[in-house]
Amino acid sequence: MIQANRLDNGFFKYQKEFEDAALRVLRSGYYVLGKEVESFENEFAAYIGSKYCVGVDNGLNALKLAFRALGIGPGDEVITQASTYIASVMGISMNGATPVLVEPDEYYGPDPKAVEKAITERTKAVLVVHLYGQCCKMDEITKICRAHSLKLVEDCAQSHGSDFDNKRTGTFGDVGCFSFYPTKNLGAFGDAGAVTTDDPELDKKFRVLRNYGSEKRYHNMVVGENSRLDELQAALLRVRLSHLDEINAERAEIAAAYGRLIDNPLITLPTVREKGSSVWHQYVIRCDRRDELKEYLAEQGVGTIIHYPIPPHLSQAYAYLGHKKGDFPITEKYADTVLSLPMFTGMTKEEIEKVAEAVNSFR
Ligand SMILES: *Cc1c(COP(=O)(O)O)cnc(C)c1O
Repeated sequence: MIQANRLDNGFFKYQKEFEDAALRVLRSGYYVLGKEVESFENEFAAYIGSKYCVGVDNGLNALKLAFRALGIGPGDEVITQASTYIASVMGISMNGATPVLVEPDEYYGPDPKAVEKAITERTKAVLVVHLYGQCCKMDEITKICRAHSLKLVEDCAQSHGSDFDNKRTGTFGDVGCFSFYPTKNLGAFGDAGAVTTDDPELDKKFRVLRNYGSEKRYHNMVVGENSRLDELQAALLRVRLSHLDEINAERAEIAAAYGRLIDNPLITLPTVREKGSSVWHQYVIRCDRRDELKEYLAEQGVGTIIHYPIPPHLSQAYAYLGHKKGDFPITEKYADTVLSLPMFTGMTKEEIEKVAEAVNSFR
């Protein structure tokens, strides 16, 4: 059986380095917000190309803190794509702001025309989600945000290292929000996240908000949160970050091989926009008979995952937004037809070929 993902491979490939880093922290006597976190923040900012990076506890809280630091809350609207992981939408609504959903384009990012049409006098920001690893249409969306004086936040939970026109995701907007959940391209061994920004004021706000609203111990300026990153995850992330280009290059090779080998008129393959790039967080194909295909592949020994079967507007959590089936036909079509093929560190040539053969033999 070829599993859809193999996180253990990602550990064993750099086992000695991970173990050394973990022991260094365990023996240091210092476990939360210390030297490892500071070093990781500097190294990640340098990698992304942002002035600042602030480590936080997970991706959802990175989003939540981004909107909070930007002063976005009740009565404000934030536009984002309807076809995303539900955490993106939660990052908006946790602050009391209203998520305004729009249809995606063919690359799964928000359709710039739909974004522009959704703007009202209450719109305060746009949240782009670089879904499956591909950078959104940032040339068009940054223009729209500038023209309408809107804040721009990027959900980069799936796009560590991908770029558009040689500029990396996480540097286009006011804030870039990252998750380092273990399945992400830059994965920790537990929960972790970060925000990136070029704005020194925002950087300061994030540092205060993540630690009970205090810059100096016991001097609490605002009612903050506990969204701290711990030393163990930071030290392990530093190891993974030093290999991220290699990790992403391997995923690109797997994606290229799928593109070469898969040939079945029932299947739509993913495409990457000119000047853009994908770090292939997922390799997502589409098929009108997706559920049958998934079952067929399982019979052939190929594991797959659906990202994501229920779009946020049809989930119980967002029933209060008042949407119904049919409101976002493109999003709903994607939810009914997408399927993620196996994609992980250490996938063998034989495994890639077996997946492609299984997909090709579906009739
Ligand atoms: C994983 C993910 C998140 C949430 O990150 P957590 O660290 O799990 O809280 C948010 N948005 C997207 C697009 C994600 O894939």
